[in-house]
Amino acid sequence: MQLSNKFYRGDKIVIASHNEGKINEFKTLLADYNLQIVTSNDVGINDVKETGKSFQENSLIKVKSIPNKYIAISDDSGLSVNSLGGKPGIYSSRFQKNCGGWFEAMERIYSDVKAKKNKDFSAKFICCLSIKLSENHIYSYSGEIEGKIIWPPKGKNGFGYDPFFIPNGYDLTFAEMNHSDKILIDHRSVALKKLIKLHLSDS
Ligand code: IMP
Repeated sequence: MQLSNKFYRGDKIVIASHNEGKINEFKTLLADYNLQIVTSNDVGINDVKETGKSFQENSLIKVKSIPNKYIAISDDSGLSVNSLGGKPGIYSSRFQKNCGGWFEAMERIYSDVKAKKNKDFSAKFICCLSIKLSENHIYSYSGEIEGKIIWPPKGKNGFGYDPFFIPNGYDLTFAEMNHSDKILIDHRSVALKKLIKLHLSDS
């Protein structure tokens, strides 16, 4: 019997994203479940405007952009720096564009923290994943990983803000870690584990 809040091995799942870094993480994390993974591009859906005021609102906007005939998973995520009041947060991607590149964005964030009295470099990555199993069955899960930002950026792996973020308990930035090590501990995998546990039929 098909349950309305479950998906099954063999199902086709649309990852509601155009971000290659995120799509690659999803493909690796979901590789064991024998799913057919496609993306927004594959089903002809353009990037949507992120008009939400929280990670969850944006993640819901993205997942709802995929036609209801598909099972879809979306992600809204970003870097939240404690001494900057959680910035760039939901604006992480837009902030990078406004700064003119990843290096410039990291440099700006680091120097903004350095200019503060307390010089608190602690930060976290936050992610909200949503899964749409049908029009009326949409669920969201969040994940976080805490750490600190450093200067200069180090490492060539990963994407986005990975080169200047070191997770707590490690000496390497996300961009210095092997891809397979990063994705086992990052914010996306924390949220995805919750989603899989509750919605994959045999887990
Ligand atoms: P959005 O969710 O499409 O708005 O984009 C999230 C942005 O947050 C990305 O473009 C990156 O800037 C950043 N981000 C989210 N997750 C990660 C990660 O795992 N590593 C590095 N940067 C990330």
